[in-house]
Amino acid sequence: MKNSLFLYIFLLFPGLLFGQIIDDEANKCGIADLKTKAFLLQELGDHWGYGYDDLLNDLDIWDNSGFVIVNSIGKSTLGREMYELTITDNSIPDEDKHRIYIHARTHPGEVQSTWVTNEIINYLLGDEEFGDSLKSSYIFHITPMYNPDGVELEYPRENANGIDIESNWGAAVPEDEVLNLRARFAELMLEDKPVEIALNMHSAYVCKRYFVYHHPNGTSTLYSNMEKEFIGAVWSHFPDGIEPYYYYVSWANGTPDKYPESWWWMNHAENVMALTYEDMNCSSAGSYDKTAFAILHGISDYLEVVTSAGYSIPEDISMDIRAYPNPFSDQVFIEWNPDKDLKSAYITDMLGRLVYQLPAGSAYNGKLSWNSIDRNGIKVSRGIYFLNMIFEDQIKSVKLVKQ
Ligand SMILES: [Zn+2]
Repeated sequence: MKNSLFLYIFLLFPGLLFGQIIDDEANKCGIADLKTKAFLLQELGDHWGYGYDDLLNDLDIWDNSGFVIVNSIGKSTLGREMYELTITDNSIPDEDKHRIYIHARTHPGEVQSTWVTNEIINYLLGDEEFGDSLKSSYIFHITPMYNPDGVELEYPRENANGIDIESNWGAAVPEDEVLNLRARFAELMLEDKPVEIALNMHSAYVCKRYFVYHHPNGTSTLYSNMEKEFIGAVWSHFPDGIEPYYYYVSWANGTPDKYPESWWWMNHAENVMALTYEDMNCSSAGSYDKTAFAILHGISDYLEVVTSAGYSIPEDISMDIRAYPNPFSDQVFIEWNPDKDLKSAYITDMLGRLVYQLPAGSAYNGKLSWNSIDRNGIKVSRGIYFLNMIFEDQIKSVKLVKQ
């Protein structure tokens, strides 16, 4: 009885178990109850453990590096400078580099976004080979505290005017913080080497690490494939800590206009891959250094793929995977190079909802099949499905057409 109830719930809400489709991402960070917020503030200390003065101290330290330029992109509502670091090796010409933008701490209570961002800065400024190679290949612009007033006032999400500056980008008269960052983005897009990746750093009360993936309905197939490629690359460097791309799917019902990612998409489309990253906002958060490492390696893996493909990642990124017959009526067989170790696979519908999860732990040896009639005799309906195959080092999607 217990089992059949579980199956019933699963059939009704498959997405709740393995992923979720979110039309309005206003709550992408989650909204904790007041008690949880108060607890985290108390546990972490004033300003959730990292206030504006802490930033000023760190800026003094970072500024000592010959690879850093500290500038203000403008003043916040209460007149605080909004500082930005530019980190690169200036002995190497910019024309050989990629430009990346990272901004953090939109929502003051999400201090973990600061810890991850600070670890990214530490890697870039560290004297190890990794940091050197990053500085010679990239120009990083980092605004570690986009909402300094909110941090100082200890507001969990808002700026000094009580506005959520994450979702204020489409307002007729946006807040000063939005105007400053937007103007900076626009300015950098006029450079010979404009921004290619923009990351918006948050942290979520649901206590998971994930990217807010954009469905092709709100972007394009190419764009969503670029995001899959990027998230898959980051994920491959921390697979037991970061959720796969389908964990949080947004924009399935179209393109909103109010987020930083909306601005990037509406103004620069596939030229800039813009994503929100959510770290963990809970007492078991941590591994900031490992996360920063995964993000930086993901950036580098991704740009290698995109650059070699000349900005046209093929829509079918599964070219070495064969599905037959396709279209199919009851059963479809899938074959791939058996050297690739398949870790898991699942099938989603057009909206990204989970339809079928292949049994874990099976040895597939380059072959698997999907019978569209389940054990209860229920047949999935006709339409387009995606088989998502998770290999050790990448995620591949195969389009399946059910007749
Ligand atoms: Zn947030």
